[in-house]
This record gives sequence, structure tokens and C-alpha cells, in this order.
Amino acid sequence: MTDRLTEYRRKRDPRRTPEPVPAEAVAPSGNDDTFVVQEHHARALHWDFRLERNGVLVSWAVPKGLPPDPADNHLAVHTEDHPLDYANFSGAIPAGEYGGGSVSIWDSGHYELEKWTDREVKVVLHGHRVEGRFALIHTKGKNWIMHRMDGPARPDWVPPPQVISPMLAVLSELPPPAQQAQWAFETKWDGARAIVFVDGGRARIMSRNDRDVTASYPELRALAESLGTTQAVLDGEIVAFGTNGLPSFSRLQRRMHVTNPAEARRLAASDPVVYVIFDLLHLDGRPTLELSYTQRRKRLESLDLNGDSWQTPRNFMGSGAELLRASREQGLEGILAKRLESRYRPGRRSPDWRKIKNIRTQEVVVAGWRPGAGRRAGTIGSLLLGIPDRAGLRYVGSVGTGFTQSILDDLLQRLTRSERKTSPFAEELPRADSRDARWVTPRLVGEVAFAEWTPDGRLRHPSWRGLRPDKAPSDVVRESCGVVRES
Ligand code: MN
Repeated sequence: MTDRLTEYRRKRDPRRTPEPVPAEAVAPSGNDDTFVVQEHHARALHWDFRLERNGVLVSWAVPKGLPPDPADNHLAVHTEDHPLDYANFSGAIPAGEYGGGSVSIWDSGHYELEKWTDREVKVVLHGHRVEGRFALIHTKGKNWIMHRMDGPARPDWVPPPQVISPMLAVLSELPPPAQQAQWAFETKWDGARAIVFVDGGRARIMSRNDRDVTASYPELRALAESLGTTQAVLDGEIVAFGTNGLPSFSRLQRRMHVTNPAEARRLAASDPVVYVIFDLLHLDGRPTLELSYTQRRKRLESLDLNGDSWQTPRNFMGSGAELLRASREQGLEGILAKRLESRYRPGRRSPDWRKIKNIRTQEVVVAGWRPGAGRRAGTIGSLLLGIPDRAGLRYVGSVGTGFTQSILDDLLQRLTRSERKTSPFAEELPRADSRDARWVTPRLVGEVAFAEWTPDGRLRHPSWRGLRPDKAPSDVVRESCGVVRES
């Protein structure tokens, strides 16, 4: 009889690993009815699914864990048989050894066998966490798929959505003091909005305009791994902090365009980001959009998501003015007021969320540029800015400050690529502003800080803050702090 643990022993040195390594072929024992699922934080997180059979644990590595839903089959990679003792193993396998990382028992119990062939294994699991019928079906080589056969883990199980557009806030002022008890207040973080979908220990990061930006932020991989098999959809802001401890939009700029994995990893070390989490949109098969802000926050806080690269900052009750003053003193962008009773409205700019800003900013579409003179000869002197409205692109003025040399170089390259002969504006520009203008197809979205709107609809004292690759020209709206209409 061949020793079924030869492969297992070949991969391990008993002097180097705390895993059980039986010295010689073990005699069959047990009742062939034990199963165990081990959560294994190795180089890549996976769950090891093991079934006792003929004296060993027949094993598969399942990268996303046991499927909670029959509609969602998971890959299971067949691995070497393990000794029966392994069913009780948890602990740390030293780095550098085979499977280096930590192992914990995710679930264990007994199973009933329905079918076992080379092509298909059908079992009913009776564990502490898992109850149900599963099939493993051989596809090719070491690859199998794992399928949940009887309904989802819970009858009311709802799979998470593929995309959710974030809810937006109306630019406004603090709610009247008499109403502030019905609101919560949060710090406004100056970064890029992102919805993070966590499933099977993997994160998918979606920007505001539904672009998959997962590759740009490798540091959030650990957030997903920390959640294990918990399925969650999170709403928050990706923020890069400057050396002064304040959010730095210009530092974040270095990260936003990068998709090359090696470069993204290098930048994650030199210009790290933090995902600041403030809402929970889905949790373990349950949508939470219909819940009130208060209930969503309670569930979010129970997840205790606080790590090196992600934080869930606290919110404040009944003290909007204090938080606003503190945010101003600390040089932060502003605060948000969120109505406690409000549900989450995807993609809507709702008066249930108000943003109150210390620094006024405005998104703009770059429609052209004027050459510089003197120190700026040969490059951009100023950018001509527009905001779309029903009539077309409306001129809102030009910006000539806030640039560094490398920003100018980058902009000049982008704008040269999209040059065109005619003005993209819906109106005639003042001659003084457009004499030497170079027009471009209005594709680039940027952001400026400014003092106020002039009576004729121009930005007063605008200063360039950076490009907004997470936004499209059609997302850009003129934000004015007007009367909040209650709806
Ligand atoms: Mn493993």
C-alpha cells in the first residue's frame, strides 16, 4: 500500500514547523466522518477544506471560502492529503516554510457522504457555522469547483450588488440648532470617494464613476483579509495624509492614475493611503441601504475596522458647531451632517446629507489653456475652465496658480494630445480671456479652491488643486451654497 502522506511529508520539515508530521505511514483510524475548514493567512488568503477518508484528510484549498449562495460557485484547488491530527491544528507556520502564515479553525464537525468518485464528491456538512449539502466537481488538473446544493446559507440571503453609486451631500450650512439632535456630524475627508466590495477575503474597489481602481491601492488587500469570510460593502474616502498629518490631495494625485502592480506597490510604501470608512451598504447577505443611518453606523462600528491602512473614525452627536470649529482650527476641509433617520440613497445628492466646508472647492472641466510668459514661457500660463449646464459648456474663468513644474509638464502633455481648433464653450468668451487661447476637447476634470462666485458667474481667486480622474465632465455641477430644499 502506498503511503498517502509522502507528498505531505516531502513539503515539511518537522524541526521547522509546528504542524503535525507523523513519522511513518499512519494506520487508518476514525469513522471517515470528520470535516474541518481552516482559515489560512498565507501569501494568499484561502480556506482549507478537509474531509476525513481512509485514514487521511483529503484536502482542497478554497481561495474564497465555502460558497454561501448556490448561485456563486467557488474554485477549490486539490492539495496533498493531510494527517488526521491536522484537523486540530491551529497556529503559526514560520515565514519561509511551506504555507508560512497563520492557521485557525474556521469550522469543524462531521459530514455525511452521499457520493465519492474521482469526478465528484457530495457531502452534507454539520458544523458550528456551516450546515448544508455541498458538491465538489472536478474540472481540470487540480481544479475543482465547490457548489452549495441546497438553498443559500439563510433563506433571506441576498447577494451583494455589483455596483453602487455613492450617495452625495448637498453643499449647505449647519442644520438649525433646534434640529441638531436629529443629525450626526462627521469630519469631511479630502480624498477620493470609493466603495469597497469585500467577498471571500478579497476587495474590489470602485471609484465614484464606477471605475475599478483595485489595482491602484494594494494596501487595502489586508482590509479584505481581516474580514475573513464576512461579506461587506463599505463606503468611504481614500485619503493620503501629508507630513503635517492633514489629508493631502496632491499626494493622493500620485496614486490615482497608477494601475501597474509593481508601481502601485512601490507608491503604497512611499505615499500610503488610508481608507476612511463611514458607511456600510451590505453585510453578509443583507442589504442595509433601507436601514437608518443610525442602524447602519451601529453595524459598521461592530465590525471594528481599524488597521494600518483603514480606519472607521467616530461620528459626533448634537455638536455640529463644535466639530466645524475644530475642523477649521485643524485646517480640515469641513464636516458632514447626516440625518439620523435617513436611508442610503445610491447616486443621489440628497439633503439628508449636508456638507459644510471651510475651504470652497469646485470641480471644473478644462476647456483650453493660454501660454505663459516670463518664468512660465513655453508652458501653461493659465487653464480656461468650464462647467456644463443645459446650454453646453459655460465659462467660469481661468486658473493660473497652484501648479508645480511637474504638474504643468503633465498637464501640457495631456492637453497637447487633445488639442482642437475651435472653442468648446457654448458662449463667446471675453476677448481679453481668449486672445491667445489653445482649445482642447473638454475631457479633463480638475478641482480648484476659490474664494467666492462673482456676480457674473466666475470663480474669484481660484487655485489649482489637481486632476479628478475619478470624475467625468458630466459629473461636474456648479455647487452653490443655497437654500436646502427638503424633499
Ligand atoms: Mn493552506
